[in-house]
Amino acid sequence: MFLGHYAVALAAKRAAPRTSLGTLIFAAQWLDELWPILLLAGVERVRIVPGLMAANPLDFVSYPISHSLLMAIVWGAVIGGIYFAVRRYVSGAWIVGLAVVSHWVLDLVVHRPDLPLWPGSTTRVGLGLWNSIAISAAVEIILLILGLAIYLRTTRAIDWIGNWALAAMVGLLLVVYVGGFFGPPPKDEHTLAVTTLVLWVFIPWGYWIDRHRTVVLGSRPSVPIELQGP
Ligand SMILES: [Zn+2]
Repeated sequence: MFLGHYAVALAAKRAAPRTSLGTLIFAAQWLDELWPILLLAGVERVRIVPGLMAANPLDFVSYPISHSLLMAIVWGAVIGGIYFAVRRYVSGAWIVGLAVVSHWVLDLVVHRPDLPLWPGSTTRVGLGLWNSIAISAAVEIILLILGLAIYLRTTRAIDWIGNWALAAMVGLLLVVYVGGFFGPPPKDEHTLAVTTLVLWVFIPWGYWIDRHRTVVLGSRPSVPIELQGP
């Protein structure tokens, strides 16, 4: 899954309004941000097999640290815990932790049965939505629209950057996603890992958007109560 993870980050802003969109993107995509690093380190392995699934040519040979259910929960607890230690924002920490775990759940929907339950587990799961480009693309795009709608109802731009930086990010996500269907598969596994590192760009982008938007849901009124009259 790709767009769906950003949809979770956008929607999560409603549940944790004081948490930056950058942090929520980092959390919802952490498993895929970690994965290319582990590939380059030789810890995890992938093979490019054109035609393996209609919507995805990757054979995830081994990725227990980044993509097993147990490790997703461990990462969620660790990242949520670090967030709480730094920010002391309880609901934010829960949402950050759950966003990390949500990645595995969304991947479960699209992957073929290649997601391990824990490192070393021979049980691998996946519902295989990637067997259909039409269905998986529809699900991803609907999720993105829902996430964006929730985010737009939760925040509003305080200047032009707040709108345009968001629009540009959503536009680029769509271009990357749709372009993946029309472009050739990655040249080799090393190139795939290096290009996947580009996902890290969306984290500072999220912080940038967040600084130019303000929360309109559950925020304190800007005029002090006593000035508003009876
Ligand atoms: Zn993933």
